[in-house]
Amino acid sequence: MRIPFIVGNWKMNKTADEALQFIDDVSEHLPDPKKIQSAIAAPALFLQSMAQKAQDTPLDIIGENCFYEQFGAYTGETSPTALKKIGVPYVILGHSERRLYFHESDEMINKKVFAAIDAGLKPIVCCDETMGREAAGDTIHWVVSQIIADLRGLSDDQVGQISVAYEPSWAIGTGKSASADQAEEGCYLIRQTIADVYSDELADKIRVLYGGSVSPDNIDELMAKPNIDGVLVGNASLDAEAFIKLANFQI
Ligand code: 13P
Repeated sequence: MRIPFIVGNWKMNKTADEALQFIDDVSEHLPDPKKIQSAIAAPALFLQSMAQKAQDTPLDIIGENCFYEQFGAYTGETSPTALKKIGVPYVILGHSERRLYFHESDEMINKKVFAAIDAGLKPIVCCDETMGREAAGDTIHWVVSQIIADLRGLSDDQVGQISVAYEPSWAIGTGKSASADQAEEGCYLIRQTIADVYSDELADKIRVLYGGSVSPDNIDELMAKPNIDGVLVGNASLDAEAFIKLANFQI
């Protein structure tokens, strides 16, 4: 049984005060985490105060990124171990904005996945689909090579710790979501890749999320698809009322 996973990704938005207010606004309106799990990925700057405040609520507070070493001379970076120690259970890795603006390669993301798992964090590994689907026939196969490279060398046990997010960059922040069928196709392909490289059992266990212009208006249709186990939501997750609606999706 894969528990639906509704994840807001705030990116570089909000101040610490606004972040704490958001927890007050949403916490009493979120579903039972045994039925639907909800999480907010927030800037590292206020993860600790958010994690403390959200401790007895259904909301998980998670990281947007971490480094591939646990400690050392890496100015400005975030330690996976330090994240885990403040009560952060998950971390997003390989978001397309990290790949685009911070030049993260599959090799680097692969190292981050190992480091995060070593620290006891569960990675949500994003794969992108950089070229417009309309412009280039079978670009969806891009996600296959990306996911294979990002997960290279992981044991079955380690792969069992991850979730994968299918985030076509043409759908991110554009208001133009993939259709439910296109999103299902991407998520299905990722699950098939895990089945081919690892096993049907692991493919069946891993949660695959869709991200790209998800909103309260399209979440029900997306979540109704068999291979979409959750969503990764940018803009719409910044608004408390919208996040409550997302977490309480209906199928
Ligand atoms: P939007 O929901 O704003 O399109 O962002 C998606 C995203 O990048 C989530 O990680």
